[in-house]
Amino acid sequence: MYGYVLHGWPPAVGKEYNAYFRRKENICFDQGCLLWGYIIIIPRTLQNAILKEIHDGHPGIVKMKQIARNYVWWATIDADIERAVRDCGACLAVRPEPPPAPLHSWPWPVEPWSRLHVDYLGPFNNKYYLVSSTSAANLISILRKIFARFGLPKRIISDNGPLFTSAEVATYFQGNGIGHTLTAPYHPASNGAAENAVRSVKRALKKASLGNEDEDTALNRFLFSYRNTEHSTTGRDPSVALLGRRLRGRLSLLRRDTDERIRDRIIASELRRDAPLRVVAPGDSVLIRDYSRRNRKWAEGVVLDRSSPVSYSVKTSDGQIHKRHVDQIMCDKNRKSRFSLTKIEACDRPRLSVKAEDGSEAREPREMDELANRSSPEKSPSSSTDQTSPVAPVDHVRRQAAEQCLQKK
Ligand SMILES: [Zn+2]
Repeated sequence: MYGYVLHGWPPAVGKEYNAYFRRKENICFDQGCLLWGYIIIIPRTLQNAILKEIHDGHPGIVKMKQIARNYVWWATIDADIERAVRDCGACLAVRPEPPPAPLHSWPWPVEPWSRLHVDYLGPFNNKYYLVSSTSAANLISILRKIFARFGLPKRIISDNGPLFTSAEVATYFQGNGIGHTLTAPYHPASNGAAENAVRSVKRALKKASLGNEDEDTALNRFLFSYRNTEHSTTGRDPSVALLGRRLRGRLSLLRRDTDERIRDRIIASELRRDAPLRVVAPGDSVLIRDYSRRNRKWAEGVVLDRSSPVSYSVKTSDGQIHKRHVDQIMCDKNRKSRFSLTKIEACDRPRLSVKAEDGSEAREPREMDELANRSSPEKSPSSSTDQTSPVAPVDHVRRQAAEQCLQKK
């Protein structure tokens, strides 16, 4: 396959490549992966691992195919998914699916999260879901947590359960401007949306208990896959409908996102650009900011290595290793005496600038003070130091950016 894609397809291929051959116009090679459009083509050796990942939470054949369609493809994927479900004891045990409760035709909500259908599940294995104890206070506390994340809905639809009809819950809804509709007694289908959700969750929990999985983990895995796959009624992923984006899952790792690629490039270019500025190197004696509660601001140490463009590991004289940003480090060699440490903060800021051209002692970088002065209107801006300052060009650019920022304010 790699050969065909990189060096051109022959006029005809073996049977096992036919499905790929038909798509050859849209198959390309990117960062070591074969892509069909935006979908990754999974090589045979990894197909089982991917199947296992898609099967996570036992979403069933239909959902598994939907999940797969968003991320991965190979010629026999549909058949493989069907086989995986057929071979799964937990999936098999809870089939066939009961017919869904018919949905009472509630008007289609215009905004997300405006009408919520609420129901509780249980007891299932002696546990209630949504409520951990059947008290109104507990129900309110759980709803409050949900609303803190997503906001108050305009209306809540629930059945006539004693919790939902309690005065406490009524007061809570009223106080928060939430309308409450109780569905007709003995007619659970009026709250069909919630009933169906409860039924799906129950099925997931049953599968979990059959597979000896932890119920909480199974529930959350099920919810994750439920929220991230197309809903049969709305045709949209619940996460997209509510949050406007698909949730990042493990399958997302298959696709290296563009942001990350751009970030990597920026870091690489900063590394190149900033290279001359880095004044400390492994083995240098330095002073680093001391955050222990001893009464001193700086501690002596030796640079061990650089872990990122701006951070270093430094070993202090007591043998401890500290991580420091380059702004928290200064060169030790120009220190006048061992006992000037306490004055350093005032007169000798961490230096990013290099030594003056004449080789004399490095001058005090004053950019920060100058900037601070400029932000206060009563002091006139001094321009004299700008042109003569021996700071490296990058500092100059940074300073300009900072100045522009201050002007905007
Ligand atoms: Zn299964």
